[in-house]
This record gives sequence, structure tokens and C-alpha cells, in this order.
Amino acid sequence: MNEPFSPKWVQDAVFYEIFPERFYNGDPTNDPPGTYPWGEIPTRENFFGGDLQGILAKLPYLQNLGISALYLTPIFKARTNHKYDTCDYLVVDPTFGSLDLLRELVAEAHHRGIRIVLDGVFNHCGDGFWAFQDVCQRGAESPYADWFIVNSFPIQQTPPNYQTCGGVSYLPKLNVNNPDVQDYLLHVATYWLREAGIDGWRLDVPWKVPFDFWQAFRRAVKAVNPEAYIVGEIWRDGRPWLQGDTFDAIMNYRLRDYILDFCVRDTMDAEDFDFELGQLRQDQGHSVPFQLNLLSSHDTPRILTVCGGDINRAILALVFQFTYMGAPMIYYGDEVGMEGDNDPLCRGTMIWDEYNCNRQLNEIYRRLIQIRRQHPALRRGAFETLHMFNAVYAYRRYNEQDDVVIVLNPRHAQPEFAISLGHVPHERWRDLLSGETYPAQQGYLQIKELRASSALILSPETI
Ligand code: CA
Repeated sequence: MNEPFSPKWVQDAVFYEIFPERFYNGDPTNDPPGTYPWGEIPTRENFFGGDLQGILAKLPYLQNLGISALYLTPIFKARTNHKYDTCDYLVVDPTFGSLDLLRELVAEAHHRGIRIVLDGVFNHCGDGFWAFQDVCQRGAESPYADWFIVNSFPIQQTPPNYQTCGGVSYLPKLNVNNPDVQDYLLHVATYWLREAGIDGWRLDVPWKVPFDFWQAFRRAVKAVNPEAYIVGEIWRDGRPWLQGDTFDAIMNYRLRDYILDFCVRDTMDAEDFDFELGQLRQDQGHSVPFQLNLLSSHDTPRILTVCGGDINRAILALVFQFTYMGAPMIYYGDEVGMEGDNDPLCRGTMIWDEYNCNRQLNEIYRRLIQIRRQHPALRRGAFETLHMFNAVYAYRRYNEQDDVVIVLNPRHAQPEFAISLGHVPHERWRDLLSGETYPAQQGYLQIKELRASSALILSPETI
């Protein structure tokens, strides 16, 4: 059987997730009323004025960081700061910008080698969506009455007498089993590909939406742009969506759990970690190199917060993320050491002033991005487990031209440590993070002392 097609560029990409309202305010003239000063504590309700002009202004920053793809949380017209309550699927929110500005942003990003993926919220809309408003006004007589799942007319919102997303009355559930709704949403999906030239869709709560819709969605999207990336927000078993007929990948939350369990929480041994990674690779099959691998998002606490501020634990998790198969994704601000617990605190305003930037962590992010870009084995190479011993985990990424060995030691210091390299022939290895070199003898890498909470990324030393 032929491998289902997935866009090859994803394997080489470093993604960066932006919550546009909180990234950068590039145009104060479009700020919502009551906009808070940048840097105040985020709440579920407040606004800070971030916009597309702000992302455009910061493209040089993102290019310099080494980012090659952006995932933007929703940008279409909506009432909330997160904009998962779409009021108009064909209009850019006026507090963010316009269609013309989005076109300019995509064009300038492409010019800088950065692709842009938008967030598609197709399970539900906002109560301000014109079709829902029509049903509110005309009840069963509305031509859109079957676009929603209404128990009785007239519509009432408290408590809602229609189906919603998670019981939230301002998020009416769309009846995606209705062919008219499917046609409309497919029009939306292809409209933004055609009109703005975007590079794909991240899909919100896709398990709540009929499966046949996603099959039609894939056909429609790939007909416009075969290179478009389709990635679903799936927190559990992604197998149903990774058979080649719906998504290219999922947001790899399961991988995130394993990384945190082993590298940060000490709830998993190296042996468990290796077993779960193998199971996940088996489940994800051909799609492994296309997965969106994340440590944080707008729906989780930030990585440094999960680590309790322990930068060495964060570095361990990052080293794994940037040396494993699949595209790493940075959640905006993690690279400058922003902290924040779950929503709304993980959605704070981006730190732009250098004095509040965590330089040590920022340097690590920049270095890891550079290392991944320089080593094809890390992006497209094979994976092999080398060694598991007392919570130390070593693995190899390799192809015909390139060889990288990674050693993770989340817990105690290990004196006089030797790591089996299997059949890897090289005799001297350099740690790409520290610059230190290590000899190998008779197939064993010799390490005088492996520090607690430390990681090595080893490349053969060329003479
Ligand atoms: Ca603004």
C-alpha cells in the first residue's frame, strides 16, 4: 500500500504557536474598548490589543529565532479574547486586522520562509454567528434552524435549549451532519486557502465532529493545496484520524505526557518511557515524522511552570522535544521563560523587554533550533534506543550521512558512566550543547560523570 500523502515540509519545520491577542500590539487604533496595559494579569475576559500587525512586525524576530511555521489560534470575527466563538467565519476579527492584512502577513511570512496554519473551529460557533442569530429571531421558520441541534423553539440561552460545546451557552454546537453545514464549512476551509494563501488548518475538538466530514474536509483542502497541513487537536488515541484519509497529524499531547512523566515529574522510568514511545510510534505509524510535538499550548500550563521553575528539567524536556521525530512546536513566550498555570494564566502578554527575558533558557531554545536545523538525522532520520540504566535514557537518531546520540539523565548524578553505542563506530563524540568531548571504547561511550538533571546531544567528532 502506498503511504498516505503528508506534506514533506512539516518534517523539517519548527512551529511556533501564537495566541494573537497576547503576542504583540502592532496597531493601537484597532484595540477593543477597555484594553488593559501590556503585562497585566490575564483573565478570561480581558483584552490587551495584540493583532496581526503585531505578528507582521515580529516576523524578523521569529525568523531570527529559527521558526519556520506559525500556528495561530482563531483570528475570525468573534467576541471573546480567544475567539473560539466565531461570529463570522469569512471575516478577520476587526480588532486583529483585515483580509488584506492577513494576505500581507502570509506573503511576508512566506518571503521569510515561514508558513502559517490557522485554527478551524468547526464543531461549534459563537452565539453571535449570523446563522444562529437568525434562528434566535425566526425560530423554526429560520432557513438555518437545522444548522443547530435545537430541542425546542423559541431559543433560550439560560439554560440553553440547544446543544452546545461543553454546556457553554455562548458556544452553540453546529449540526455538522447537515449537508448544508458541511458545504458551508468546506467553503470556509477552502476560502482561506485560496484567498489568503494559508498553509493548513489546526482543527479544534475534532473528535466531536462526524468522521465523514473530516474525510470530505481532507479532499477539499488537498484539492486546493496538496501541501496543506491538517493537524487535529486530539488528546487521546489518535489512530482513527491517522489512517491517511483525514488528518496528517495530531497535536501530540500523549507524547507530551510521557516527556513530562520521564523528564520532569519522575513518575516514569527510562524503561517505561521507552516502552510508551515505542507504543506511540506503532500507533501513529507513517505519520510519526509529521506530528506536532508540544510541551505547552494555550490549553496547558507553561513548561517552565510544570517544571516548578527548574530550568534544568525544562532543558531535559526540550532536548527530547527537539531531537525526536515530529515537528517541535514552541508556545509563544516559553522561549523567553514565561510562566503561567492553566488558562487564563498561560495566556499572558508576551515579554518583549530583554531584562525580563530568561537569557539562559532563551539561549538553549536558540541552540536547539539551530542543532535541529543543522542535523538532518534529527528531522528525517531513524530512531534507535541505545541504553536504559537507572533512569538514564540514551537513543540515536541517524541516516546515511548523519549520526546523533542523545543522553537524558533527569535524576541523580551517575559517576563513571558507560553507555552502549551498539554498532556506531565513532571514537570521539562532542556534546553540541556544552562543547565537551567524550571518548568511546569498544562500543561504549565513556562518561566520567553524568550530572543530575542533565542532557547530552552528541555528534561524532570530525578530525
Ligand atoms: Ca491592536
